[in-house]
Amino acid sequence: MSFRPLFALLLAVIASSTYAAEARPNILLIVADDLGYNDVGFQGARDIPTPHLDRLADSGLRCTDGYVSYPVCSPSRAGFLTGRYQQRFGYEYNPKWDATAATHGLPLSETTIADSLRAAGYSTGAIGKWHLGAHPHFHPNRRGFDDYFGFLGGGHRYLPGSVAEVEIGAGKKATTTADTEQTSPIQRNSTAVPEVGELTTRLGEEAAASVTRHARDAQPWFLYLAFNAPHTPLQARADMLAKFAAITDERRRTYAAMVATVDEAVGRIVTALESTGQRDRTLIFFLSDNGGPMTKRNANASVNSPLRGQKGDVFEGGLRVPFLISWPARLPAGRTYTQPVISLDLLPTALAAAGATRDATLAPLDGVDLLPFLTGQVASAPHARLFWRMDGGEAFAVREGNWKWLRTYQNAPQLYDLSTDLGESRDLAATRPEIAARLAAASAEWNRGLIAPAFGNNPFGGLINRTGLEKNAAP
Ligand code: CA
Repeated sequence: MSFRPLFALLLAVIASSTYAAEARPNILLIVADDLGYNDVGFQGARDIPTPHLDRLADSGLRCTDGYVSYPVCSPSRAGFLTGRYQQRFGYEYNPKWDATAATHGLPLSETTIADSLRAAGYSTGAIGKWHLGAHPHFHPNRRGFDDYFGFLGGGHRYLPGSVAEVEIGAGKKATTTADTEQTSPIQRNSTAVPEVGELTTRLGEEAAASVTRHARDAQPWFLYLAFNAPHTPLQARADMLAKFAAITDERRRTYAAMVATVDEAVGRIVTALESTGQRDRTLIFFLSDNGGPMTKRNANASVNSPLRGQKGDVFEGGLRVPFLISWPARLPAGRTYTQPVISLDLLPTALAAAGATRDATLAPLDGVDLLPFLTGQVASAPHARLFWRMDGGEAFAVREGNWKWLRTYQNAPQLYDLSTDLGESRDLAATRPEIAARLAAASAEWNRGLIAPAFGNNPFGGLINRTGLEKNAAP
């Protein structure tokens, strides 16, 4: 081969890789914690203005039927960070807050979205709540994240020096039994740093600084920003509380101030993206990790209407969450997408956007790449069915088209038509037995691909048998 063709080939390779680098978006995954379905402006909230989140929704697609894979914090995160139904690897409870609990966390056999994007040449960062195991081998820096700023537990007080109180029902408050979790050190990578200022505000500042710092990098970045707001304890900045003085209920007022603080932080990050010229080439996901807890432990004055149920339920109020996707360079703006999608889709969507392929030897994904569906290139539904299992099989649910089948604890199976009954109030199991039977069989078939919970959630390490303790939440 003469020198000239070789040189031309080399130029072509350089050109194509440069083009690929330019085309690869930054990816920003923003997660709120225990946010109600109806508690942001783009979902219809009237008493909590969220102008920055609403603008983000206007810049992309709002998914009306966006689900998470579990109605409680930690298993939900294990799902969307792996793209796999987390019950496939035994993740069905929150882990113990215990740095010696070597099995209470995301199994080391699983690959995270950060692992895959880093392998594809992305820089990776995580900011905020981790809650995927307190043992050192579960640390974010060992699960694919180059940089980490946050806290390892399932929650954290917002105001330095404050007492973290949680709702325990009927308006009663208790200092959380997990004080060491709520006051655990804020870490930069593995180094403790002082608690300074209100936490949500600080997480937003860290995220804005991160996107600014990486603006001129040759490589694209992935940032996972996990707010713990508006999870309890109910605490907010005084100036933000003052903005909601018109809300007479103290708990709702504080909750509103916390949601507004998340919104303010999102605004700060979007401004950083815009001012550094990165907005159009940044793919942003925003969702809650589960539905709002309205009356159970950790109730935070959230509202899931018009959905039935709440955090911890397989009714829609536990599983369906505020969910939006924005990527100005590639996706339509100002649209509503109504086919069911699930948080498990985030990983394959991100990998597709990055032009990354997943190692074929890894366990198969349950999520799908949503890009062809969101662009309208494919008109069919991304999923024939979505499935849920709770507490090792104490409760199940299936969504197929507009049908929702579920079985909770010791109650008889139920069937709802969500197209006419979004609030799951008219049980059709007896009138449409053939559909109920089909979905029960599909649930049983899916269940055969799962394993028993690998760890429990009580202080003694066993499983809490909730049979008989949890009955249907009132509509
Ligand atoms: Ca949560």
